[in-house]
Amino acid sequence: MFKVKLDKEKCIGCGSCAAVCPGNFTMDSDNKAKVIKEEVESLGCNKMAEEVCPVSAIEVQPVKEAKI
Ligand code: SF4
Repeated sequence: MFKVKLDKEKCIGCGSCAAVCPGNFTMDSDNKAKVIKEEVESLGCNKMAEEVCPVSAIEVQPVKEAKI
């Protein structure tokens, strides 16, 4: 599992994340990006969205499994 975090304060609304990863990023009515699913099974294009963001507003991190 991976957690996809988006810092709306940093987002400048360039649309790059939604362009490279339309499956999990969309542009909101306030012209900022929005994550569709914050927890995803596999990285897919989310990593690309993180890399393409010019202001580093996106962070994709593995979710630590809870210890039993
Ligand atoms: S790539 Fe970054 S700055 Fe551009 S819309 Fe997405 S989150 Fe916002």
